Amino acid sequence: MVGETGKPLTREAIEAHQLIKLRETIAWVRQNSPFYSRHLANFEAAGLSCLKDLERFPFTTAEDIRNDPLQFLCVSQSEIKRVVTLPTSGTTGDPKRIYFTEDDQELTIDFFCDGMSTLAGPGDRVLILLPGERPGSVGDLLLKGLFRLGAIGIPHGLVKDVETTLDIMERERVDTLVGIPVQILALARLGGGRAAPRNILLSTDYAPKAVTEVLRELWGCEVFTHYGMTEMGFGGAVECQAHFGYHMREGDLLFEIIDPVTGHPFQEGERGEVVFTTLTRRGMPLIRYRTGDTSRFIPENCPCGTVLKTMEQIKGRIEGNVRLGASHILTMAALDEALFPLPGLLDFSVSLSCEKGKDRLHLGIYALESHGEEMEKLVLSALQRVPSIQAACEEDALSLSVEIRREGWIPMRGAGKRRIEDSRE
Ligand SMILES: [Zn+2]
Repeated sequence: MVGETGKPLTREAIEAHQLIKLRETIAWVRQNSPFYSRHLANFEAAGLSCLKDLERFPFTTAEDIRNDPLQFLCVSQSEIKRVVTLPTSGTTGDPKRIYFTEDDQELTIDFFCDGMSTLAGPGDRVLILLPGERPGSVGDLLLKGLFRLGAIGIPHGLVKDVETTLDIMERERVDTLVGIPVQILALARLGGGRAAPRNILLSTDYAPKAVTEVLRELWGCEVFTHYGMTEMGFGGAVECQAHFGYHMREGDLLFEIIDPVTGHPFQEGERGEVVFTTLTRRGMPLIRYRTGDTSRFIPENCPCGTVLKTMEQIKGRIEGNVRLGASHILTMAALDEALFPLPGLLDFSVSLSCEKGKDRLHLGIYALESHGEEMEKLVLSALQRVPSIQAACEEDALSLSVEIRREGWIPMRGAGKRRIEDSRE
């Protein structure tokens, strides 16, 4: 990454830029967003003499957005080019709406161009397995970013039929795939290694390490991960060739790691909740937005020599954790890492219920037909190696059940957020 003057960027230059943009953003939202003019009534831009001063500012939550997203707008609705409606994870509450102006979308296209240059170059053929039908959708912005890079983007959308997508990959001689982890895993496993791309970018809030490893093995390709969410303007950070962690999109976003319980900032290197502030967005800027994702900054320098901050891969979401037995915490990430390495496993759903005072963890497993026989045993023994499950079983507080679903891979699986369905009182 180089600065506009062509000289290499320094840490000082990035932080000086961030401080200027931060002050501008605070002044802009206080003046133009009804929500922030109230929320930040006592917090002036002039009060920011360094980036650390932002710690005194209040957080913004998903709940705040859900309550009344229009109150966040800093421009008239006629200037909004794109509205993204995000479904809620629970059954209650209104959906979240995120608004973007044309300039906001330009920033994302620039980031996609920059980020994709790590794994694709001019002339490379990139199949985009992300929603892209509508102008301004993530797939559409990525297509534009690739065009800017001189690469050839091929819009596809989510995988609905594995065979069809594999045929397209072969016919189009695809070099690089961009998509959602579980969907790409299905392509690799159902295709038995056919149509191997050279590079893959897994784009999601978090990518199980096990999926990354299986893809590398089955296809012999390089796998990169991208961290992003709609609220960030889709793009947040991307891995470099050293696979040392994500390099953050620091020109547009200011990231913090906080204690999810007290809200206090954590020291560099400590694991906590990821919080970000938009620095360059005009339509709907967000100040100290709590993502609910868990990670930490890696204090050591990446071998690539970047001056950008590096963040460890996301380990999952805070709200998705469930308690087993006395005090054992089970995360979706722990299940992912335990189960995805099993040969022939495509995906799974997981639910937790209570029967006669005892918790019951039920796994619905989607597997290749050819791996059906042994699968139940393999799943059970993999589950029993997860420490929290093992401990709860030993306390006789938990029972396990596994159902192998032989109807094959369900189209569109993996597109939403995967989580443990907890139906206990
Ligand atoms: Zn690097």
